[in-house]
Amino acid sequence: MIVGHQKQREFLRKSADMQKISHAYLFSGQSQLGKKKIALEFIKLLYCSQRQNKFGEGQAGKKPCQDCRFCKDLEKGIHPDFFFVEPQKPEKDLGSISRAEIKISQIRDLVWKLSLRPSLASFKAAIINDAHTLNPDAQNCLLKTLEEPKGKTILILITDYPQILFQTILSRVQQIKFFPVSKSAIENYLKENGYSLKKAQEIALISFGKPGMAVSLAKHPQIMKDQEQEIMEITQFSKTDLVSRFLYVKDLVSKKKDIKETLEIWLRYFRGILLKKIKKSSNFLPEASLQAGGRLAKGGSHYSFNQLRKIIQTIERVKVLIDRTNINQRLALEQIMLEL
Ligand SMILES: [Zn+2]
Repeated sequence: MIVGHQKQREFLRKSADMQKISHAYLFSGQSQLGKKKIALEFIKLLYCSQRQNKFGEGQAGKKPCQDCRFCKDLEKGIHPDFFFVEPQKPEKDLGSISRAEIKISQIRDLVWKLSLRPSLASFKAAIINDAHTLNPDAQNCLLKTLEEPKGKTILILITDYPQILFQTILSRVQQIKFFPVSKSAIENYLKENGYSLKKAQEIALISFGKPGMAVSLAKHPQIMKDQEQEIMEITQFSKTDLVSRFLYVKDLVSKKKDIKETLEIWLRYFRGILLKKIKKSSNFLPEASLQAGGRLAKGGSHYSFNQLRKIIQTIERVKVLIDRTNINQRLALEQIMLEL
């Protein structure tokens, strides 16, 4: 089940129906919005045997059946013409300095597989997940394929950080951007799946327009408690002195939690305060951005516009640095604490 993203899905469905398909796409947007699910759905649209008419063309308006061999094999990841590439963890665990990446060998392997004749479908397809983790060699290797595509292939790159990819790659893919979905869409989805109205509202409120997050919050109540706790903690930051904040950072890093997730929570909190401030001085705000902060943005009214902008920029910078470099996490988080 896919929640939201009607425009993007409609665009992809029409492209499939009209056989106007690009050689390469880039699905970009925050994590847990459902980009991977939609990419797979798009490939199902093109492969599903129930959707093809006798001329092998997609029938307008029809969804993938989810039941034919092609749909089922794609879902299980065993379709012989479909490949899924994702970052690999380093072989040796080098502690904090090691990070997962997509290596040139993975891309070479993919390029070779794509060059072979398809066995079941009329073309080959691949998803490269977390494409921002392609290392420079891997990006160069991929670039050659994008410049001179061989045979009929469809490549979908998925990333939370398109700005990290080479400009030359960005210029050769059709970018489709994804945004947080509306709170009501998430709420309805949860209600349809048997959650009470109260629970659905609670989860929709703190999943910040991310269907993937809503599903994991619904399935794992502990994550929800942790998230509420983190939001509580951040509202206290401005009332505490620097020493306490640095101790908090030390504790956070030593717990080896997913720091990126914590930073996202902080970002949403401060964006929420900023939006609340903007809302006061303007009557128009898109629903998706409002609910990204919404009622959670309690307190924080003492921050000025400029302070908030600076805090948000610092958190965003630190988030990219932690994700893409070997920066010392504690020092990086302390930088944020200095801004508060
Ligand atoms: Zn099917």
